[in-house]
Amino acid sequence: MHEPEFLSASNRLIIDLAALADNWRAMNERSGTASAAAVLKADAYGLGIAEAAPALYAAGARDFFVANAEEGAELRPLVPDGRIYILAGMWPGNEELFFDNDLVPIINSEEQLAVFMAALSERGDHPCVLHVDTGMNRLGLSVEEAVALANDPARPASFSPVLIMSHLACGDDPKHPMNVYQLERFRAAAAAFEGVPASLANSGGVFLGKDYHFDLTRPGIAVYGGEAVDGAVNPMKPVVTAEARIIQVRTVPSGATASYGASARFSRDTRIATVAIGYADGYHRSVSGGGVTLRQAMPSGAYGFLHGRKVPHVGRVTMDLSLFDVTDLPEKAVRAGDYIELFGRNVAVDDVARAGGTIGYELLTSLGHRYHRSYIGGA
Ligand SMILES: *Cc1c(COP(=O)(O)O)cnc(C)c1O
Repeated sequence: MHEPEFLSASNRLIIDLAALADNWRAMNERSGTASAAAVLKADAYGLGIAEAAPALYAAGARDFFVANAEEGAELRPLVPDGRIYILAGMWPGNEELFFDNDLVPIINSEEQLAVFMAALSERGDHPCVLHVDTGMNRLGLSVEEAVALANDPARPASFSPVLIMSHLACGDDPKHPMNVYQLERFRAAAAAFEGVPASLANSGGVFLGKDYHFDLTRPGIAVYGGEAVDGAVNPMKPVVTAEARIIQVRTVPSGATASYGASARFSRDTRIATVAIGYADGYHRSVSGGGVTLRQAMPSGAYGFLHGRKVPHVGRVTMDLSLFDVTDLPEKAVRAGDYIELFGRNVAVDDVARAGGTIGYELLTSLGHRYHRSYIGGA
């Protein structure tokens, strides 16, 4: 892994496009008779849409979801004949992006429906998706509004959604009663749009089983190797490895302290590796080994992985630097210049997230620009 291009880089991300493709194929298979889309919003969950999109396309994905029309325009040349759905939908002033780039707006409200219908009458036919809210209370027409729309004799013939969709609030929690409730609500809405393909499941929803699959599933986090079901063994392959460089190793005597707030205190002579990673790189301050009061409930912070062993973070994560306790490694084993794994094969991204009171989604989408990115396993 020590390619020459890395020699001058401090931090590096290794993104395994073969694992990404395998994960998408696995989610597509788990979707049974439904087909899996790929969700590429937020620069492919921080991994890089320019590399992730072609890899997923090559794996067989043809339906792609992004957050907004700008992301859709960026994605268009990467998946020329793919169908691109825009989660935020259309609003006055951005209609052109949809027509110019062949983007499918998701209609999230009566207002967006009106904007879309006005655009249709001006520019001619265009596909759309109808989003129905079944309990998330974030976006979408109510089930009653959707049913009324379906049965409205005055509904213009030009309005013919290519998909009806909804989004689960608790897909990561298989036991949550919200799942069955939303499933029933969604079935009622979908029944009113007979013959129109339907989509309900995100990654967690795919794991809920075939009742939730309908015609198209929308897995995101699982494809990127993250945990889709809270507390379950994660069957996905890790896709992203984040590594940072040790700048210095020092020995701190028993009784001394380290870091801001003197937040690490040592009860033995301790060897500390000072690593070039900080919250400016998306290594959140809340994963600190100590000295962060917002996480009182969880006393231990994140750990890294170095020379075959887990090493705990100590003190506070600062803007550019972090401290790890490497005392338990052989003294000669740890040197300035070594790379420590922050997450990847040996440290689950979700474990680091949990240490910081957050989720893998947030860690991945806040990785920042100071990593050298290396894409492996591509076609
Ligand atoms: C982000 C998103 C997804 C993907 O969710 P994951 O939990 O990452 O699988 C699916 N559907 C919608 C509407 C989304 O916003």
